[in-house]
Amino acid sequence: METINILGIKITNTTLKAFTKKITEHIIESKKTFIVTANPEIVMRARKDTSYQSIINDADYVTADGIGIVKASAILKQPLPERVAGFDLLLELLKVANTKTLKVYLLGAKHEVLEKAVQHIQLNYPGVVMVGYHHGYFDWEDPSLKKSIRELEPDLVFVGLGMPKQEKWISQNIGYFNMGIFIGVGGSLDVLAGNVKRAPSLWIKLNLEWLYRLLSQPSRWKRMLALPGFVVRVFYERIYKK
Ligand code: UDP
Repeated sequence: METINILGIKITNTTLKAFTKKITEHIIESKKTFIVTANPEIVMRARKDTSYQSIINDADYVTADGIGIVKASAILKQPLPERVAGFDLLLELLKVANTKTLKVYLLGAKHEVLEKAVQHIQLNYPGVVMVGYHHGYFDWEDPSLKKSIRELEPDLVFVGLGMPKQEKWISQNIGYFNMGIFIGVGGSLDVLAGNVKRAPSLWIKLNLEWLYRLLSQPSRWKRMLALPGFVVRVFYERIYKK
């Protein structure tokens, strides 16, 4: 799929529908795939940390999770059609997994939250084969977790460790697995569990999901400080690099 460059990160130029179709093809072919769902915080982090930047650019696909990425693409005159948000992608792929009785594994979030997310999937997507799940506070040096995931052979592995951990974990371990679509989904497991509310659709339509998240989880303000820097940098690129 075609990519565009946003401050050094290659973002896949696609829609949620087309991308879901592409990933469904990869599942059918058992093609191992690493997907990053990028927001401005991830892009800004990658600018400061070159090893993180290589991890992101080595992924098979980087989608535009945040509206900031879509707006930046328009400012840089290479417009993306829409967001391909991690949470929406999670829901679309669960629908695919439901109809095709695919094997799903969840990694991340706190144990109680994760159990609620699993229950939600079992109730709403009965065709999904939930092969396993593990909370996100584990010892990365202990090989037993990845060994068990390898043996379970999930088609889809949703990794919700937050950024940059989830991308680092996938990048470090994907070589060990024989198959699977690996996606970093940030706090999506908390939303699936009902512990964190996603912004109402009107807020999303008005491109204010980021503001809703800031108001509902004020503790996030520190990481959101990356946003003004992102905007400044995008305009800088437009004025001086074009
Ligand atoms: N988390 C985890 N292990 C860690 C740190 C975080 O499983 O070592 C989980 C945390 O419980 C939450 C998610 O990762 O479910 C982070 O959510 P956040 O909203 O910070 O992620 P973002 O979408 O902003 O990357």
